[in-house]
Amino acid sequence: MPSQISTVEELRTGGTILPILRWGNPVLHRPTRPVTAFDDELRELVRNMFATMYAAEGVGLAATQVGVDLAVFVYDCPDDDQVRHVGVMCNAEVSLPEGKDRKLHAADEGCLSLPGAYIELARPDYAICRGLDQNGENVQVIGTGLLARCLQHETDHLNGIVFGDRLAGRARKKLYALHEDAADLYPDDWPVTPRDDKE
Ligand code: ZN
Repeated sequence: MPSQISTVEELRTGGTILPILRWGNPVLHRPTRPVTAFDDELRELVRNMFATMYAAEGVGLAATQVGVDLAVFVYDCPDDDQVRHVGVMCNAEVSLPEGKDRKLHAADEGCLSLPGAYIELARPDYAICRGLDQNGENVQVIGTGLLARCLQHETDHLNGIVFGDRLAGRARKKLYALHEDAADLYPDDWPVTPRDDKE
């Protein structure tokens, strides 16, 4: 039982913006530890993750991206009907359609840990994500559109996978080149220090 019940609304305010780690940092490329304690420490982490995601103008952020090897991500992302979904997902698992129900959708994808670079990646256009919320309660989110992509991308982070791992060598090379072109805009501690063209 959590010592205190908190709402997503509470956790979306009062956090501290943290630097976002870049691909290559080992914490981003290792599986994470499951969340077992739904306590003040988790609440503080989640608050800081929301603050960091909003400062970076992202739709999802995993704990590994702020250097914590715990299986938790936050999201604030529209689905295919432009319905906004906001929440906390711990110990996430994704179920994808199989057989004739499996439809791939190719769209540009990016990662806050490789800022300024986007490239097309085909993923199933529908995903069910199951896990625990910030209070340790079971939750299930059905993702369509961008939300389907977000839930798959963030769950990958919990397993130490970045979306570059899902690209063919040539596409990955292009993605890194795009990041290199944009890298000057992003200070090392971004988004603590905003993007250069936003100051
Ligand atoms: Zn990412």
